[in-house]
Amino acid sequence: MYFYAWEVKIAVKILKISVGDMLELKKPHPCGNKIFKVLRVGSDVRIICQCCGRDMTLDRVKLEKSIKSISSAPSDN
Ligand SMILES: [Zn+2]
Repeated sequence: MYFYAWEVKIAVKILKISVGDMLELKKPHPCGNKIFKVLRVGSDVRIICQCCGRDMTLDRVKLEKSIKSISSAPSDN
């Protein structure tokens, strides 16, 4: 029976980004670094490059698509 197959696709993966998290992006910063720290989260996300210290504000949807991995802030647990 195949009745339940469509339900599986409802499980959309939602990334939870919070302040202090370290993000690894698929696309590196011009300085070569891929690790960024989250400074502010809203409809836009502000992140700072851990190599050169430059910060930038990105559209949240676009940022989520370019995230390779997230390391949660240690204080979360
Ligand atoms: Zn940089």
